[in-house]
Amino acid sequence: MSKSIVGHFKGKDTPHILIEVNQKCNLSCKACYKNRGTYTKPLALIKEEVDFAFTQRNLEAVTLAGGEPTLHPELHEVIRYIKAKGVKVNVLSNGLTLTDELLRQYNNAGLDFIHVHVDSHQKRPDAVHARTEKELDPIRDEILKRIKRNGIMPALSLTLYKSTLSQLRDVVDYVLATEYAPCVLVTLYSDTRGLSEKFSKRVKSSKNIIKTSKSHGEEEVLGADIEAYMKQHYGLDCLLHYSSNKDTNAKRWLFYIVLSIIRPDKTFEYISASYNYLKFQMALDKLHNAIKKRYNFAIFPESKALLVFAMVLSALMSLQPRTIATTARLLWMLMKPGNTISFNQFYFQQPAGLNENGELEFCAACPDATIRNGLVVPVCVADVLSPVIEKGPNDEKRNRMLLDLGLDSINVPKAG
Ligand code: SF4
Repeated sequence: MSKSIVGHFKGKDTPHILIEVNQKCNLSCKACYKNRGTYTKPLALIKEEVDFAFTQRNLEAVTLAGGEPTLHPELHEVIRYIKAKGVKVNVLSNGLTLTDELLRQYNNAGLDFIHVHVDSHQKRPDAVHARTEKELDPIRDEILKRIKRNGIMPALSLTLYKSTLSQLRDVVDYVLATEYAPCVLVTLYSDTRGLSEKFSKRVKSSKNIIKTSKSHGEEEVLGADIEAYMKQHYGLDCLLHYSSNKDTNAKRWLFYIVLSIIRPDKTFEYISASYNYLKFQMALDKLHNAIKKRYNFAIFPESKALLVFAMVLSALMSLQPRTIATTARLLWMLMKPGNTISFNQFYFQQPAGLNENGELEFCAACPDATIRNGLVVPVCVADVLSPVIEKGPNDEKRNRMLLDLGLDSINVPKAG
């Protein structure tokens, strides 16, 4: 497998967190790792969580999630509150409620980008006849373009199952042929609901475990499956990864950067960013951290000139004649009228699970952690862990629990 650089986020220096604003949802996605409910978090409590999040991480971006967060009647106020702290704000939405009017309201509040979750296991009322990932292209197109024309950066999100792994090609092809999805977040199906059943056997205070969560009986998709797939079908290497909190050889969180040149008929050619280019970006990021005391997060270069510059720099830094020649050919293609350039980042995340020793494994640094009962917790298992980490235990007991769950690696130790 490819060399891949290990990401540099760690502990308090991980620049991103999720804040959950409600449980309510207008869809019923097959593998949602959240418990469904009707709860809407009061604005004052959300603000409290946001303030606490800023004590736990040197944040550069905050994502608002649910349920379906756009069903929260005061979401624009939440966006405004976080934006006033000088960070980027993202919303994770299924896109069903995103009218022009609502998008204008969010834009006015300062929203930077929206990850729209669309996949073939959602039973969407706006795409009742779509059975495959490919058949969802028109709806993806429509929502992503609507977001963009209202001044917000669109991004795509989906869950990938073993049964849809063979359709990943259709999704990647779609992304490489559009300018409207510069970032794609793919959650690999993992049995996080079934995890609570396995978990209850392991934790002694099992009376608190959620008993209602049922396994979906689907086969899980692993980071290693993605690495093999992207190499086999696109010749792409994972450029950067995070391992797990328990196994430094595992790749649970994988990152790819691809630049594509798109013809008017939507055919395209592409090239991966080089390792050396990414190392250079990471060095710049460390400099940014040294000056601003926080790492960058979620940068999608937009200007065509910047993208061409990045492409040339990446090729030259690769020191590979073949890469330089391919890049020169792609830039020649770009000169033709009607052709355009697109920047695409792919993130694949394998949610938490129990390893063969019965230990909880999750992505190292967990870039998508949330706040639960005063702790930073991977959002993919926040509902499963919630009863286990209920408030109340004294500091010593809680510290033991943090250690036992491996959460000490993503929580900031208390002073003194
Ligand atoms: S462990 Fe964190 S980064 Fe990994 S899938 Fe879960 S929430 Fe996402």
